[in-house]
Amino acid sequence: MTEQTLIILKPDTVQRGLVGEIIQRIEKTTLKIVAMKMVYASKEQAGTHYADDKEWLISVGEKTLKSAEKKGIKLSRTALEQGQWVRQMLMEYITMSPSVVMVIEGHNAVAKIRMLCGGTSPQEASPGTIRGDYAIDSYMLADASDRPVQNLIHASGTVEEAKREIKIWFNENEIHTFKRVDEDLIYRKG
Ligand code: ATP
Ligand code: MG
Repeated sequence: MTEQTLIILKPDTVQRGLVGEIIQRIEKTTLKIVAMKMVYASKEQAGTHYADDKEWLISVGEKTLKSAEKKGIKLSRTALEQGQWVRQMLMEYITMSPSVVMVIEGHNAVAKIRMLCGGTSPQEASPGTIRGDYAIDSYMLADASDRPVQNLIHASGTVEEAKREIKIWFNENEIHTFKRVDEDLIYRKG
């Protein structure tokens, strides 16, 4: 299935000069960059992207709670409270300096890019993935440092999520239609 996904190379990627490295990995898969720009995210964009959605907030908070539990630490916040705190931190983080946003298109683009990114916490992300290779952060370190997990890249989790997110960052006329030369190999008929 040809689909589109949204990528944000977050401020830590731009500040650490890793934009080129990461784009190269994406381009080499044969997935196609159909939109790309550098943005200084507004508070409004950040708040819409990291939506105030109870289910997502709880899932985010549970990651810290589970990680603490593994270390025998019991935190006083509930998963929802932890998630709300992370959301506030994420909104500050994503607006602190520029990010690079992209729309990537191709066969199974959403799942493929998520695999390339690796797990949310770089500490647990597999070697060979972007988060596993270029970062070492963990939920515990982020929590102790009063900031969200710095994991370089955001990628949409589902096709539906991608459709919602692309609209936050791009106008329709910024998303381009063109053919890469390798498409004849990948998508040819017969
Ligand atoms: P993304 O949506 O950024 O691609 P993801 O889907 O793996 O990553 P989400 O659960 O959607 O993870 O969380 C969004 C972002 O919030 C993460 O990329 C990370 O920067 C941060 N984050 C998530 N959970 C936590 C947590 N428990 N503590 C600190 N930061 C967190
Ligand atoms: Mg997500």
